[in-house]
Amino acid sequence: MAIPAERTQVIRIGASATRYESWCERCLDQAEPQSIGVQWLRVEGDLPLAADGGLVSCRRGHRIAVRRSGRLTSAA
Ligand SMILES: [Zn+2]
Repeated sequence: MAIPAERTQVIRIGASATRYESWCERCLDQAEPQSIGVQWLRVEGDLPLAADGGLVSCRRGHRIAVRRSGRLTSAA
């Protein structure tokens, strides 16, 4: 199965978390991630508790969605 080139990356954070950190999968997929330094793959930031999601870019410009999990906008 081919992975779509523009598949959106998603970082999921907990319902009460305000900070996230992850890796850019796109950068990891590049031929030699070691050559750019592992710290460059790192993506981190803040998401206010009031926000359910956001958008972040890795240092090389890949877009990554941030989604807050474990919180329902409409409880049953
Ligand atoms: Zn990247």
